[in-house]
Amino acid sequence: MNARPYWNPAAETIAPATLARETLAQLQHQLAYVSARSTFYQRKLAAAGRLGRSLASLEALSELPFTEKSELRESQLAIPPYGEHLACAPSEVRRLYSTSGTTGRPTYIGLTTRDIATWREAAIRSFWCAGLRPEHVVPVVVSPFVVAASYADAFETVGTCIPVGVNMTDRLVDAFRFAGANALLCTSSYPLHFAQALAQRDIDPRQLGLKIIFGGGEPGASIPWVRQQIEDTFGCQLVEVSGNGDYCAMAWAECEHRLGMHFSAQGIIYPEIIDPDTGVSLAIEAGVRGELVCTSLQRESQPLLRFRTRDQVLVTHTECACGRTGFGIRIIGRTDDLLIVRGVNVYPSAVRDVIASFAPLTNGILEIQLLQPPPAGWEPPVHIKVEHHAPTTAAAAELKQAIEARLREKLIFRAEIELVPPNALPHYEYKAQLVKKLFT
Ligand SMILES: [Zn+2]
Repeated sequence: MNARPYWNPAAETIAPATLARETLAQLQHQLAYVSARSTFYQRKLAAAGRLGRSLASLEALSELPFTEKSELRESQLAIPPYGEHLACAPSEVRRLYSTSGTTGRPTYIGLTTRDIATWREAAIRSFWCAGLRPEHVVPVVVSPFVVAASYADAFETVGTCIPVGVNMTDRLVDAFRFAGANALLCTSSYPLHFAQALAQRDIDPRQLGLKIIFGGGEPGASIPWVRQQIEDTFGCQLVEVSGNGDYCAMAWAECEHRLGMHFSAQGIIYPEIIDPDTGVSLAIEAGVRGELVCTSLQRESQPLLRFRTRDQVLVTHTECACGRTGFGIRIIGRTDDLLIVRGVNVYPSAVRDVIASFAPLTNGILEIQLLQPPPAGWEPPVHIKVEHHAPTTAAAAELKQAIEARLREKLIFRAEIELVPPNALPHYEYKAQLVKKLFT
């Protein structure tokens, strides 16, 4: 198996200078393509004074306007279902995804035959990097969610795919007992939920034969306590992978060194990291934090220029012993979820880290409750419900005080902790909702 360390060595170990040169040529081509075929980008580029102008350098990309998710939504309201940003004939769309809308109406993502192939290539590189090999039989628990088809493409190419879907616990258990499943693709918080479901069925998670979990979709696999707990529970490896239904279903994955998720979609998308407040593009160096912005390089259906993902990332490394040259990231939160408490940025995932550090007295399940709209709703103390396992009332009182003190010390904000019994709060199979708005 080690005879093939990379799926696509030419892409994954490309010299940075070569990649930069090739990326610039692709960007120029993609820009000319949208300028000719997308009324959405014709309008945006004209407004920015860039229509008909080429790119002199990679750095010049930062002079082009961003694309916001809200603009794509409005574009599809104007011309449903694909929107004004469709750059191919509708009849060339071969697969149609929808992404879950937080506003109630999904947005639609079309892929041409070639788009399907490039997304599949990025997914296979990523999963191979994460450890997927031909002997793996992989139930996919994220379907019917949009990007699952691209993941299935990857599993079908390398190993064996078992589409399962969410809320199908018995079917998933059967996949392990009767169908030889030995791997799992799910969101990062799902394995702990699955462990509870197994406990209710009197099944020992370590007897499933699970070797590797590909976890993604939310920060979690990279949080040391979450990873440790899941790996101990199932006796397997948990590897973090990431992508996005808008820009590329799967583009990032950890290798065996687990320093962060390698960028694996060379030649397919071009990632930038920006300061989310100023929009300035930042140099990609270890330790840099900012928002991930992605530009398509060869998309036919709905190419996106400088798409703001709203994912807050940390650059973990730019060199790795595995030989891959794609830089590494960890997702540290969402710009959308950010709370600003008296001028201090508070990421809900960071709050979860602190609370989870009290395990086993806590189980990492919490709900940050906003009683009023910001800024009043974010005035301290911030009300946080936390599930706990403290054995006595005295122990619970001590735990409450200790959590409040540690939040004050580590995250510099004042919280009012309300301890609640296990299972009092919702447990999510998909992305955990850490913040609950209790106002309309
Ligand atoms: Zn590596």
